[in-house]
Amino acid sequence: MSSATPLPTHLHENPFALAQTQLRRVGETFDVDPNLIEVLSQCKKTVEVSVPVQMDDGSVFAFQGYRVVHNMTRGPAKGGIRYHPAVTQDEVKALAMWMTWKCALMGLPFGGAKGGVICDPKRLSIGEKERLTRRYTSEIINEIGPEKDIPAPDVGTDAQVMAWIFDTYSMNVGHSVLGVVTGKPLSVGGSVGRDGATARGSLYCIRTAMQKQGSRLHDTRIAIQGFGNVGSNLARLLSEEGVRVIAVSDSRGGIHNPYGLDVPAAIAYKAEHGVLEGFPGADAITNEELIEIDCDVLTPCALEQVITAENAPRVRAKMICEGANGPTTPEADEILEDRGILVLPDVLANAGGVVVSYFEWVQGLQEYFWKEYEVHAKLNDIVVRAFEETWSTRERYSTSMRVAAYGLAVQRVAEATTIRGLYP
Ligand code: NAD
Repeated sequence: MSSATPLPTHLHENPFALAQTQLRRVGETFDVDPNLIEVLSQCKKTVEVSVPVQMDDGSVFAFQGYRVVHNMTRGPAKGGIRYHPAVTQDEVKALAMWMTWKCALMGLPFGGAKGGVICDPKRLSIGEKERLTRRYTSEIINEIGPEKDIPAPDVGTDAQVMAWIFDTYSMNVGHSVLGVVTGKPLSVGGSVGRDGATARGSLYCIRTAMQKQGSRLHDTRIAIQGFGNVGSNLARLLSEEGVRVIAVSDSRGGIHNPYGLDVPAAIAYKAEHGVLEGFPGADAITNEELIEIDCDVLTPCALEQVITAENAPRVRAKMICEGANGPTTPEADEILEDRGILVLPDVLANAGGVVVSYFEWVQGLQEYFWKEYEVHAKLNDIVVRAFEETWSTRERYSTSMRVAAYGLAVQRVAEATTIRGLYP
């Protein structure tokens, strides 16, 4: 599939073209050698695979999958695997590039990668999902490995999927390879704190940003789009901090209560019913209404390009924390900047997951596991340090948090590329 492929209906722009535009803008602002920008604007390797799966009714369906490595100059590539009907090769390439910047911004010894399979995981039985995962893993088995490319969960995949990848890889090489994948269940070498790590990183970013602005977390009203790993954990952590979570949503729509939702009850309701729709004690809202709702912090934690030039003028939040990857289009970014709305960009705001994935990889290689308080403390150190570096770069260059974060990251990758030299 090329950039000429029609865009999925929820996207306004080709995500890879958008990621390349962002990179060029950053290259100009930070005066990075155009030759390096040329190298970094492409993905190192793109693998497209066919994944034939026997379905429960006896038929065989050939799913299409991808694994893309954007860059591995600073270390093995790292990035999640997405199961979603709207996956495209260009989306996976954009997500892989963003992973390179995220790992560099956090100072992790990783490059960026991403994977995806075009499928609707909600319509697969457990058996179909397992067969799909094992066959996909077999198709990319020469691409992944603890020193090469280490997958993790993303939209539509979870710890169980990671356990199947770990098992398939390990069965093929003849011994357990804990470092091949992160986001695994605790019983097979997962790290404590990985499940809620992305949300916890977002919490640390929101809290630090509030301190910078002289406001306090517990006076805040927050709206969260998406109620999966990132969104529901963020709602839980924020409500535990006494924050008023006034709106949350899933793909079917949202629920709103200006006085604050009962988050544990909403999590239990979603677990029981599979949807938030019908949750008592709240009004129904659409996902579009949630973006424009009256709140202090808006946290998109679902899919890309939900804040656009069309709705950005009507956003009422004072701060946006990007739990999702790429939720804001560049045009929307400019509008939000002009309106003085602080945007905490994805590469900073949702990096908690890859930071604890790094901890899981280190623990797996050493076969020595840490306590939960150590994981949280080390996560806080890394995320807050990256926040402070981004904040001071933003002030020095009079630019947005996004351009500052990308600038720091791109400079780090560019420096590593220069010092290693161009092979041969
Ligand atoms: P998930 O599959 O666990 O949850 C996704 C949520 O989004 C679900 O609640 C789903 O109902 C909702 N959703 C789907 N389509 C929607 C739509 N059109 N409108 C509103 N909501 C919709 O996925 P996740 O792991 O929570 O990932 C969410 C985002 O966070 C993605 O952009 C992902 O790349 C990013 N992210 C995830 C992690 C991680 O550790 N899981 C790390 C970094 C970034």
